[in-house]
Amino acid sequence: MSRAYATVTELTAGLAARQFSALELTDELLARIAATQPVLNAFVSVDPDGARAAAKAADAARARGEAGTLTGIPIAHKDLFMTEGLRTTCSSKMLEHFVAPYDAHIVTALKQAGTVLLGKTAMDEFAMGSSTETSFFGPVRNPWQLDSVPGGSSGGAAAAVAAGLTPAATGSDTGGSIRQPSSFCGITGIKPTYGICSRYGMVAFASSLDQAGPMARSAEDCALLLTAMAGHDARDATSLPRPKEDYRRELMIPATAKPLAGIRIGLPDIFFGDGVDAPVVAAVEAALAELRALGATAVPVALPNIGYSVPTYYVLAPAEASSNLSRFDGVRYGHRAAQYTDLFDMYRKTRAEGFGDEVKRRILVGTYVLSHGYYDAYYLKAQKVRRLIANDYQAAFARCDAILGPTVPTAAPRLGAQMQDPIKMYLNDIFTIGANLAGIPAMSAPCGFTSNGLPIGMQLQGPYFSEARLLNIAHRFQQATDWHRRAPKG
Ligand code: GLN
Repeated sequence: MSRAYATVTELTAGLAARQFSALELTDELLARIAATQPVLNAFVSVDPDGARAAAKAADAARARGEAGTLTGIPIAHKDLFMTEGLRTTCSSKMLEHFVAPYDAHIVTALKQAGTVLLGKTAMDEFAMGSSTETSFFGPVRNPWQLDSVPGGSSGGAAAAVAAGLTPAATGSDTGGSIRQPSSFCGITGIKPTYGICSRYGMVAFASSLDQAGPMARSAEDCALLLTAMAGHDARDATSLPRPKEDYRRELMIPATAKPLAGIRIGLPDIFFGDGVDAPVVAAVEAALAELRALGATAVPVALPNIGYSVPTYYVLAPAEASSNLSRFDGVRYGHRAAQYTDLFDMYRKTRAEGFGDEVKRRILVGTYVLSHGYYDAYYLKAQKVRRLIANDYQAAFARCDAILGPTVPTAAPRLGAQMQDPIKMYLNDIFTIGANLAGIPAMSAPCGFTSNGLPIGMQLQGPYFSEARLLNIAHRFQQATDWHRRAPKG
């Protein structure tokens, strides 16, 4: 296997042993990005000069004996994290030429950790979607099967990691956008507890649901990255004032024959019921058997209101989006219509030209559910159901340490298959959205393949602040299996 498919942990060891330099590694990945971009379209912007400069600085730091665990490790940021001097588009015409004057909190944190930024990855426009087909810059392809979608909205990030273009990437997850593309592309990704990673400098979609998180080849790599990304930031009022954590702490405990002894895995039957494809159920059940072999026990749990998570989310997320996206009015930044008669005509034309169909659909729905006369019936009602769903999880976690199920009911659909039917696309989020509504951590890790060779992911959800435990469960699974080590051909 080439260096391109090595984990962050392996690359750090190789850099420390001087087997290669950060500059050599960066050049290799930049060449891979250039070669694959016409087919995969995973990146919106690539920054060869910035990346090479950062790699040289990392090599110099190492030569001075100042290297940390991420010094010289290449990464890519989803194109909704502000990067000073490098454009941040949200894959929208609205921000096609927007260059932020500052870095997002997590961008600064990963820069200070010594990572090398290769570029910005494609996404569904403003993170609204599940396939990365709503990007203004054209669809991204799934490296496992080029006629399939990579998932979304962090589809460029997932495709880039899966194709060996970067060992790790950042994503954001409002209703599944880290976990679902991780599942479709055969990589590992975690959405932390709401408030763990600062949202400062992350373009807002639905502020009460949005969380940043890492996407990589292994749970161990995600733990490394999350340790660097997480932490209190006074610039985000929802950032939690908690002491810094090392998310690898459970992973570093030496393995025993039964490393998961004492862990109770909760199984809600809705996660294994009708509407879940048979190969997906089979792969997750096989993963459960492996977790039991590692010492975990299984207990049935109920999430009686989870069936309402999709309608609840598709009221609340558009409501917040309609408010958040009102700032794109052609006055302060971003696209402005070339011709207009007065101020209102300028707003109208700017937004008509700048936003794509899915974004417009969300703004219309959100404005409607917040409007006088409908607010109580839709928005307020959805807030109440959100509480019931959060309560369901609290009750379930009294009986188990983590919940297991599929990340998505299916493997990656073909390009174009869902674009005509938004409702069908929305229904795909059934298993991921609950964690955002409740604010709990949740992750996806590869656990099998369909007969066509498309990856299948399992999802682990846990109580607030259980990231270290979830990552450890996935890590022990990955120590015993090799699903996460498979790479697409060609
Ligand atoms: N697929 C969901 C949506 O379209 C979730 C997107 C996300 O997590 N950003 O809203």
